[in-house]
Amino acid sequence: MRFCEIQGNDDVKRALAGMVDAGKVPHAILFHEDDGCGAVPMCVAFLQYLFCPDRAGGDSCGRCPSCNKVAKLIHPDIHFVYPVTGGSLIPSSAKPTALSYVKQWRDLVLGNPYFTERDLGEALGIEGKASLISVAEAREILGRLSFHSLEGGWRAVVVYLPEKMNADAANRLLKSIEEPPERTLFLLVTHAPEKVLPTISSRCQHIRLMPVRRPGAAAGAEEAEERELMTALLSAILARDLSEALETGEAIAALPSRERIKSFLHYASRMLRNVFLIQQHLPALSDAEDVEEEDLHRFASGLKRSYPRSVLPLLDRSAMLIDRNVNAKIVLCDLVNKMFVL
Ligand SMILES: [Zn+2]
Repeated sequence: MRFCEIQGNDDVKRALAGMVDAGKVPHAILFHEDDGCGAVPMCVAFLQYLFCPDRAGGDSCGRCPSCNKVAKLIHPDIHFVYPVTGGSLIPSSAKPTALSYVKQWRDLVLGNPYFTERDLGEALGIEGKASLISVAEAREILGRLSFHSLEGGWRAVVVYLPEKMNADAANRLLKSIEEPPERTLFLLVTHAPEKVLPTISSRCQHIRLMPVRRPGAAAGAEEAEERELMTALLSAILARDLSEALETGEAIAALPSRERIKSFLHYASRMLRNVFLIQQHLPALSDAEDVEEEDLHRFASGLKRSYPRSVLPLLDRSAMLIDRNVNAKIVLCDLVNKMFVL
């Protein structure tokens, strides 16, 4: 994947290419993206640029053997780590690591570079299950880094969702991130930087990726459902109709998996941020889709100015509780009640 194949975030591409050109590549970079905004392909394009012997004009050549291997996600010096758990695709006796699912990972990233956490769960056959980056995984990475780079140049570890590393795994990796072996680069992609262990986060250079409007994006149907639910909820709140609001809350709690509920909560945050921006007369900063505009303006004029800012932490907290397997009906009922009285 070349930079030119990635839409948007041109300033980030320039900054990354600039680091390579100047010979100032940091040991570790933490990319913060909204779910599904393409940070993994950005990492791949960056590594392809770093590894390419024929880079020119701020992009990799896209033709040399190195580019070829990086683009196919089969370069022996690039390791991908992502949260996993046991699932239908691997024997139940196995202790899975990312390597157990490497084929599914490649198919997903190559087929749908703007994949979401939920897409990953589905691709690995572990949808709706809590997954993590385990200490076994950390051990495996360190083992692989103890060898020299196979192609004699840089080595890289891309960690997708470091917030899902347990403390043991994080502590094991910490030393490598603090003092990496020479020409070794850690690229971390997070959706929740506040949940990344501070000792790790503080060792990384931080880069925020902005969401890009992508016509016909994969999330289509599900995002439409999320939009419908959130619009129904805020409409009921504006109409002071508590029973309608609670019913909508139940419909949200009945979404088919915890990942879907989290995805809804994420969408809800995004919508409220856009409402907030409209209230602040900064609509240019919003990433709203055209179909949302009318409702957003209705909510912006109907809701108090303090409303979005008061609700956002409640949504974050609900997502955290859903993550911890708290009963979804209870979480949503509580959330709706609080959103109603604010
Ligand atoms: Zn090349």
